[in-house]
Amino acid sequence: MDKIRNIGIIAHIDAGKTTTSERILFYTGKSYKIGDIDDGNTQMDWMEQEKERGITIMSAATTTFWTPKLPDSLYKDSYRINLIDTPGHVDFTAEVERSLRVLDGGVTVLDGEEGVQSQSETVWRQADKYKVPRLCFINKMDKLGADFHATIKDIQEKLGAHTAIMALPIGAENMFKGVVLLLERKSLIWEGDETGAKYTLGEVPEDMKDEVEKYRNELIEQISETDDGLLGKFLEGVEPTVKELKLALRAATIAYKLVPVYSGSSLRNKGVQPLLDGIVDFLPSPLDVPPAEGTLPNSDEKAVRHPDIKEPFTALAFKIQTDPHVGKLTYVRVYSGTLASGSYVYNATRDKQERIGRLLLMHANDREEISEAIAGEIVAIVGLKDTKTGDTLCDKDHPVILEGIEFTEPVISLAIEPKTKADQEKMGVALSRLSEEDPTFKIKTNHETGQTLIAGMGELHLEILVDRMKREFKVEANVGNPQVAYKETITVAGSAEGKYIRQSGGRGQYGHCFLRIKPLGRSEGYKFINSIVGGSIPKEFISPIEKGVKEAMENGVIAGYPLVDIEVELYDGSYHEVDSSEVAFKIAGSMAFQSAVKQSGPIILEPIMKLEITTPEEFMGDVIGDVSSKRGQVLGTSQRGNVRIIQALVPLAELSRYATILRSMTQGRASFYMEPSHYDPVPGNIADKIINKESN
Ligand code: GDP
Repeated sequence: MDKIRNIGIIAHIDAGKTTTSERILFYTGKSYKIGDIDDGNTQMDWMEQEKERGITIMSAATTTFWTPKLPDSLYKDSYRINLIDTPGHVDFTAEVERSLRVLDGGVTVLDGEEGVQSQSETVWRQADKYKVPRLCFINKMDKLGADFHATIKDIQEKLGAHTAIMALPIGAENMFKGVVLLLERKSLIWEGDETGAKYTLGEVPEDMKDEVEKYRNELIEQISETDDGLLGKFLEGVEPTVKELKLALRAATIAYKLVPVYSGSSLRNKGVQPLLDGIVDFLPSPLDVPPAEGTLPNSDEKAVRHPDIKEPFTALAFKIQTDPHVGKLTYVRVYSGTLASGSYVYNATRDKQERIGRLLLMHANDREEISEAIAGEIVAIVGLKDTKTGDTLCDKDHPVILEGIEFTEPVISLAIEPKTKADQEKMGVALSRLSEEDPTFKIKTNHETGQTLIAGMGELHLEILVDRMKREFKVEANVGNPQVAYKETITVAGSAEGKYIRQSGGRGQYGHCFLRIKPLGRSEGYKFINSIVGGSIPKEFISPIEKGVKEAMENGVIAGYPLVDIEVELYDGSYHEVDSSEVAFKIAGSMAFQSAVKQSGPIILEPIMKLEITTPEEFMGDVIGDVSSKRGQVLGTSQRGNVRIIQALVPLAELSRYATILRSMTQGRASFYMEPSHYDPVPGNIADKIINKESN
């Protein structure tokens, strides 16, 4: 287990995450010729799409092996690196969160010219939340304008990280040739830009000696300060050995005290090997991170699972993906015990038994069948039926539910309409498959119009899904404009009768019920209480009534948005010996509910976003003024370096094209991050507009 590194590369779009991942896969051997991926499969489509958009959205795990090669590396054996891909766009927050949940360490890739960009800050903060130890790789040192030290300053100021410079660049821009490893006092110079380019290990270039000594001393002091033993030596003027320093740096990195920083150019194939050594040397193994925590099923009692093969089996499913060759794959991280192919495991989240078909290690270009996976490993399972993202799989005799992955409800939706009859069928399959893979993507049908709505976390999120539907499932569809996902609720209690009686010769219809409804707290959802006594309605008709209520909740009475946060009580009704049927009671339930809602002060709710804007001080007034004009509420401001951070709550409806607006207001110097916060009532005048729009 000490020879496993579960890591993810986290970065701003375009910083070079894909290129760096490709190089890592190449240098770790189990790889393909760069860019040479076999045609025609899903994976290929995926990559095409990512390339075109210049973003990475996959979140699966790729297994590779690396044996540290450079002088004075702490370890010399073959280490398994499980590379978990993380997306860089905020619309895919759920993807980032779920990968951060299962990885042990991260590599933050930065653009050496751009420095720390907004998304780097966002993912950095997410990684802080999950306490993920990190390295930084300052990429694109070959690019015009690349500035290593300015980027270091940026990391310190914007991310508040204590940087430990490990590899100084030799030259910059088109003169970038390689790096100097500070602790080892060695230079690595690559002969050419090709993927397979050899490097030469040599002495520190003459003209860099002073600079190297300066940063090397700083580094030694920094590391020594984190370790009492070394600090004593340092103060006595004795230089610790490189090995001692690396061990201390490993401990300091895992304790989030220091962030080792490397530099290079992935595109020009320079600097990636030292980074790989750094991953093995300084990022934690599964043994170095705290045990997994959870609760026993149906109780609040806490339970922990240590990374120990002798403990009962426990794993977390973090990604479902459809593989063109083997079908549905469930990626899991094993936290304790062992998992064997062909065995039965217990899905504690859903109270279901599951059979493990095959176990696979996913490499860059092939998959390897394995018979067993142990604690600390990340594997893909073939054959699971009911397991969804975030579920816990465990030993039936020692059940536990690990802390799940939290997903926010979708806040934006759009209408989607198949172009032809043939597309209609395919679209159903495609949408359900895609929503299975992505828990933040939801499908709804508007019962009145028959229209299909898809809902997600942001405009880009939905755009990508529609695109995948076209490419992978060959469905042609027309899509509407993105709409804010409003909801409806009630403000006071009310009651109503629902009567559905038809008697016109032969067998009639008879359903009749009385409902009371009252508002619940925000996000409490829905509760159904049956308080029928004395059999005024026979038992078998109760659940049809509830079904009718649930269906009616999908389309509210004001503007057709789903109703939420309501308690419904069924308290009376009547039936007919011959004419009563499930259908009649379902309709009666639905009618009663709708008329009760009409009397209970229905209102529209809108999603409110938590917005965090980072801006130079001079634009603060304008940014705050703009937030206020958007019905926003400033929660507070703070300062970091010479930038101000504004936190606010703003309705999503006011935030369309916010990126462009903010850019032009601040000459492109401000950045923002937003995520859904909660739902609030829509003010009256705006509600009127929404209602008019819906009825037109
Ligand atoms: P991602 O969006 O973070 O996955 O970034 P990509 O790896 O797709 O890279 C974004 C762009 O930057 C592409 O055009 C790459 O060719 C380019 N790029 C990546 N690494 C480097 C580098 O080291 N130097 C230069 N000059 N460009 C790079």
